[in-house]
Amino acid sequence: MLRLEGVNTYYGRIQALRDVSLTVAEGEIVAVIGPNGAGKTTLMNTISALAPARSGTIAFDGQAIAGLSPERIVRLGISQVPERRQIFGSMTVQENLILGAYHRYRRDGRQQIERDLEFVFEIFPRLKDRVKQKAGTLSGGEQQMLALGRAWMAKPRLLMMDEPSLGLAPLLVKEIFRVSGELRDRGTTILRVEQNARAALELADRAYVMESGRVVLEGTASTLASDARVQTAFLGRTGE
Ligand code: ATP
Repeated sequence: MLRLEGVNTYYGRIQALRDVSLTVAEGEIVAVIGPNGAGKTTLMNTISALAPARSGTIAFDGQAIAGLSPERIVRLGISQVPERRQIFGSMTVQENLILGAYHRYRRDGRQQIERDLEFVFEIFPRLKDRVKQKAGTLSGGEQQMLALGRAWMAKPRLLMMDEPSLGLAPLLVKEIFRVSGELRDRGTTILRVEQNARAALELADRAYVMESGRVVLEGTASTLASDARVQTAFLGRTGE
């Protein structure tokens, strides 16, 4: 579904992605793990065109997408849950969710969008209880749910999640991971960036490890979870 080959991305003269190649097949959950500054967020921003690639190729369903606008990329079916929960604080929960579907009204119609809204409330009952509440007054965890719900309202074929568990209590982390599984079961393919390597590898089919802008390891999630280098660097095990 998604294929990156030899992608290089820069911020001015700073190179943040170095010759990155990666694939995501339809129906997969793919995790990208790595330390601070490894280029994980840049990878997502490169795919969504917020930080466009300077060279290399990016194909979605076989169609080259590098060079398209972020708006076109959303319309093709790629949607991103941003790391810093960019929700609109002065708008209500419901308004934020509806906004996620703004480009779908003509194509899918109001009824379908209302059904999707019901689904978001089903998976996140907390949001339903707070439907008229201003988003800025939600707790951090609730805001993360809202960010995920809003990205899903765009009905993406590929959902990219940037550190969905960052700063959340363990119970909420579980909740977010459960929902990822549910969305995947509904046909959404997921590319997820995580510093929480343990949680990421538990609920992924395949994973990539990034360091200093490069992909340094890749494999099935279970192979990587038992890889000595991953265990030492990310899972806090000494291997003894
Ligand atoms: P973290 O887990 O800390 O979010 P990350 O793996 O997502 O890290 P990126 O945010 O992609 O890493 O950053 C990769 C590199 O690019 C870092 O060295 C960072 O300082 C640099 N960088 C990121 N955004 C910018 C920017 N807007 N301008 C200049 N440099 C940037």
